[in-house]
Amino acid sequence: MEMRDIPEPNLVNSNDVKIRMSVLGICGSDIHYYTQGQIGSQKVQYPFTVGHEGSGIVVEVGNSVKRVKPGDHIAIEPAMPCGECDQCLAGRHHTCRKLRFLGCPGQAEGCLMEYIVMPETSCFPLGGKLSPDHGSISEPLAIGVYTIKKSGIAKGQNIGILGFGPIGMSVLLAAKAHEVGKIYVTDIIDERLVIAGKEGVSMAVNPVKENIIGKIMNVEHLGLDLVFECCGKQEALDQAIELLKPGGKLIVVGIPEFERWSLSVEKTRRKEISLQFIRRQVDCVEQTLEMMKNGSIKIENMVTHRFPFARTKEAFDLVADYRDGVMKAMIDF
Ligand SMILES: [Zn+2]
Ligand SMILES: [Zn+2]
Repeated sequence: MEMRDIPEPNLVNSNDVKIRMSVLGICGSDIHYYTQGQIGSQKVQYPFTVGHEGSGIVVEVGNSVKRVKPGDHIAIEPAMPCGECDQCLAGRHHTCRKLRFLGCPGQAEGCLMEYIVMPETSCFPLGGKLSPDHGSISEPLAIGVYTIKKSGIAKGQNIGILGFGPIGMSVLLAAKAHEVGKIYVTDIIDERLVIAGKEGVSMAVNPVKENIIGKIMNVEHLGLDLVFECCGKQEALDQAIELLKPGGKLIVVGIPEFERWSLSVEKTRRKEISLQFIRRQVDCVEQTLEMMKNGSIKIENMVTHRFPFARTKEAFDLVADYRDGVMKAMIDF
């Protein structure tokens, strides 16, 4: 990773907005590109700029832009759907056939740069109450809000969240806004379990050190209603199926580094487990910002590290090595 000087981007279309970046959150997917050069079939061609969890200040707008004006602090929605394909017309912009997504190889350069131009539809004003961090965190958090929506969660249901990185934590924060029952969290990093404890979960356990199935089933004899796989690990998927009650639902959010999941035929069939995969989110940014504004979601335990733009590589190395109990590391421009 290295810094390069490039020309400042200019407005091209009448709905374009030029943004000076304030803050960028480092995402697990940025790290996948940094350490592996790819996620599945999406391979990086170098040089390439990563980054998609950004917020900034509007500096210039095209003549048809109505939603924002220069000086506005905004959250940047990294997805730029075409608006015309079958998926877009069906309200599934996140699986748009011609989707362009910030920091996604072959689609668009990321926003780990001082200035970026985005379409108006990707700009969400923060208003007075929310900080640049709120804007940036709204990206992963919206995935949590969407995941919870998609899970069909009902009041009082007991849930498990396996993997407590920023996405697992986003799922937790969204779940807490929904009067769920008990929440069980697992992660292999103890500092993350401490954060889960601060968020008031019923139990936070480390599967490397303890028999998590035994510990959770000991208090939850009937099993859990919903389990969210948030780390992309086969062990977690297997544990999820053990933990679910018959008729329970497994929601897979994590991005694995392997190509195929495997499922126990016997257990999934006998328990009649439902399976839901999650692809990012759709139409949840505004709601997420609103939930932070009205206090139903608080992100105070999310950001653990900050680095100035010039020290971005250090930040990426820290996150890639899961060092120092990192949850979310932010880059300040
Ligand atoms: Zn992300
Ligand atoms: Zn489309």
